[in-house]
Amino acid sequence: MTHTVTLEGESRLGKRQRLAKPELLAPAGSLEKLKFAVHYGADAVYIGGQQYGLRSNADNFSFEEMREGVEFAAKYGAKVFVATNIYAHQEDLAGVADYLRELEKAGIAAIIAADPAIVEVAMKAAPKLEVHLSTQQSTMNWQAVEFWKEEGLPRVVLARETTMDEIREMKNRVEIELEVFIHGAMCSSVSGRCVLSNHFTDRDSNRGGCCQSCRWKYDLHADEQSVSEAGQNLFTMGSKDLCMIQHVPDLIDAGVDSFKIEGRMKSIHYVASVVNAYRQAIDAYMEDPEHYELRQEWVDEIGKAANRPLNTGFFYTVPGAEEHIYEAEEKPAPYDFAAIVTDYDEATGIATVQQRSPFRPGMEVEFIGPGGRQFKQQVGEMTDEEGNALTVARHPLQRIRLAVAQPVQPLDLMRKRIG
Ligand code: SF4
Repeated sequence: MTHTVTLEGESRLGKRQRLAKPELLAPAGSLEKLKFAVHYGADAVYIGGQQYGLRSNADNFSFEEMREGVEFAAKYGAKVFVATNIYAHQEDLAGVADYLRELEKAGIAAIIAADPAIVEVAMKAAPKLEVHLSTQQSTMNWQAVEFWKEEGLPRVVLARETTMDEIREMKNRVEIELEVFIHGAMCSSVSGRCVLSNHFTDRDSNRGGCCQSCRWKYDLHADEQSVSEAGQNLFTMGSKDLCMIQHVPDLIDAGVDSFKIEGRMKSIHYVASVVNAYRQAIDAYMEDPEHYELRQEWVDEIGKAANRPLNTGFFYTVPGAEEHIYEAEEKPAPYDFAAIVTDYDEATGIATVQQRSPFRPGMEVEFIGPGGRQFKQQVGEMTDEEGNALTVARHPLQRIRLAVAQPVQPLDLMRKRIG
């Protein structure tokens, strides 16, 4: 995988500029997800450690897992970042310098920090770690970006509320890397400024505990009168998800350095599919910007792993009322992750897969791999590893052999249609 392609000839505010290939940055909620994100084309992944991150419910990494993740990513030329983006109470800061030194020793390339105390400790205690300013700082103007550059930070993760025009202006005025969320869930409040979760559950959003209260089902009341009877006309305060697959050229032309996908709690299938789609779009545009065309299969690929309504967030306009999700019922994704390919025998055309959700002969499945490889087939006869015929693959992690219609590779995924 190469990440250094540049093209001559782009014009930005009248200046001839080299157009740099942006980094594709994926979430990895576990070591296994890290491997899939990198294998499907991420240039970098961001993870959470056992402390100081904002996803206290994700399967956060031990130092040993971090070392394994860094080693795996390095084989693909990819980097690993660690989120340390809580706003710290005094008690949270005890031990932070030691923790950051351990990250440095584990080969982590950068931390993503919001609290200036953590930023400062990192720069002094672990100077080999890059410090990227977290989106939690809500940076939306070039003066703030310049401030953080002067503080010595090489990268700012912009607020999701930043517009495309603001990004262009930042790139034109300040020489610094800009990381931008391009896909995934949005906060219905200004990101990082919400206390719904704190109020309802005593779980602090700014210390990693958000329980997504905005997506709960609520009854609607007006004054003393209930507008919806309990259980009727329930509504949520959740926002539509961000999706910029149709606007990859705009983001690259604006000078975005890192395309960030949200979702450390999301499944392997989701991470692989979304990374796969953006990887292809970015590569296609960088290879031949003049003849670039959005391909419907990239859009479809994203829709196969998740089914929330999508929009373009704040890039082009301030989202209005129609950008919220009011219906309480969310539709499931049309495909479910069924198995991971662990081996393939070219001579016999038999693949070995590891079960992740039940499947049986006669079921239509789809195999996918990096670079957009995919094909459909019906599951035929299948056996366990000892050669015993199976009528259903019902045991999680069981290894199963089945004939495949086309060659597959380890870490390809098998998914089944459910809707
Ligand atoms: S409750 Fe919703 S809006 Fe509030 S922080 Fe959590 S995800 Fe964001």
